[in-house]
Amino acid sequence: MNNIKELDKKYVLPTYARADVEFVSGNNARLVDANGKEYIDFTSGIAVCSVGHANKRVNDAICKQISNITHISNLYYTAPQARAAQKIVEASGYDMKCFFGNSGAEANEGAIKIARKFGEKDGEVKRYKIITLEHSFHGRTITTVKATGQASMHNYFGPFPDGFVYADNIAQIESLIDDHTCAVMVELVQGEGGVQPLDKKAVQDLAKLLKSKNILLMIDEVQTGVYRTGKFLASNLYEIEPDVVTLAKGLGGGVPIGVVMTKLKEVFSPGDHGSTFGGNYLSATAACEVIDILSELDVSGELTESIEYFDSEVENFYEAHKGIFTSKVGIGMMCGLRVKDADTLAKVISNARDEGVMVLKAGKNTLRLLPALTITKEEIDEGFNSLNRAVASL
Ligand SMILES: *Cc1c(COP(=O)(O)O)cnc(C)c1O
Repeated sequence: MNNIKELDKKYVLPTYARADVEFVSGNNARLVDANGKEYIDFTSGIAVCSVGHANKRVNDAICKQISNITHISNLYYTAPQARAAQKIVEASGYDMKCFFGNSGAEANEGAIKIARKFGEKDGEVKRYKIITLEHSFHGRTITTVKATGQASMHNYFGPFPDGFVYADNIAQIESLIDDHTCAVMVELVQGEGGVQPLDKKAVQDLAKLLKSKNILLMIDEVQTGVYRTGKFLASNLYEIEPDVVTLAKGLGGGVPIGVVMTKLKEVFSPGDHGSTFGGNYLSATAACEVIDILSELDVSGELTESIEYFDSEVENFYEAHKGIFTSKVGIGMMCGLRVKDADTLAKVISNARDEGVMVLKAGKNTLRLLPALTITKEEIDEGFNSLNRAVASL
C-alpha cells in the first residue's frame, strides 16, 4: 500500500483528494482492501457497479467476447453495439437511436452537439442557447463544465463555449427562453448537486412548454439511468418523453461507456460526430449483459423489493439519528441524507470507512448512498450496522 501511495503521489496528477484506502477485490456489495479489511460498499463506484463487483455473468460475457475480438473501429459493423442499442432503446420505451461514447461527459457533449445542430438554420435566427439548472453537474470537459450550473467550476479554463444559461430552478426556465434557445438540459434527480429530485408536475409542465416552443428537452441520466431510480430511466418514472437522453455510469457495470440517444434520428449525418472507442466489443458486451441482468430483476420484482428494503433501512437509520440528519431525499437506490453541517458529514464518511462501510458525499452537506442494484439483504443489514456504529462514535 505505501508503495502504491508513493507511486500515485509521484506519477498521478493530484486532481482527487483520495481517501487513504486501496481496494484489491470485491464481490457484489463487498470490498476488500490491501490490508485484508472487509467493507460493505454503499457507493458502487459512484453508481457505476450497478450489478455489483466481480459480477460473474458480466465477467463471463466480456471474457468470452475479448477472447475473440476487443476492438476494431466504428468504420465497420459491431454486433454487440447494435444489440446494446436495441436493448437500450427497447428498455427506454422511446422511439430513439443511440450514439456510443465512453463517459458521461462525452454523452453530454453529444447531446449538446445534437441541440446545436438542431438549432442551426440557414438564413434565419440560429438557435444555440441551452438552459441548465443551478447545482447541476454535466461533466468535466470544457463544454460540459460550462453546462454545469456551479459557478465555482468556472474559475479557470476559459474562454468557454458560449450559450449556456442557468436557471435557479425549474420554474425560472420559462422566463429565460428567448429566440436563441434550442434546448433545456436537466438531471431529474441532481446527483452531485445533493440527490435532489425535481418536482414531477413541474417537469411535466416544462416538457409541455418546451414541446409547444419546439425546444429540445434533454435529460442527463448519466447517474439516474439504468434502473437506479427503479425504472430503466428516471424519465420513465416522471412519465415524460424527452427528445434526448444521456446514459453512462451504471450502463457498463464498471466498463467505460456513454450513450446519447435521441428521437431526432436524422440529426446527424456521417462525419458529424464520432468516437474511436465508443461502443466497441468490450463495452457494448458489458452493457448488453448489465441490461439483461437488471431487466430480469425488474421483471421478477426483486429490484423493487431490494429498493423498498434499502429505503426502509435508510428511513430507520434517519429516524435513529435525527440530531445529525435533517432530511431524507432521493428516489430508488439513489438516497441522500442531509447532514446538519459539512464537518459532521466529513466525520461520518471517515468513521464509516473505519467501521467498514463506504459512503459518499454530494453537494455541501448530503450523505449519499448509491449501492449496487444487486445488493442483498445481508449486505444492507451489515452496512447499516456499521453506519450506526460510525454515527454513534461521533
Ligand atoms: C458523473 C456524471 C457526469 C459525468 O460523467 P463522467 O463519466 O465522469 O464524464 C455527467 N452527468 C451526471 C449527471 C453525472 O452524474
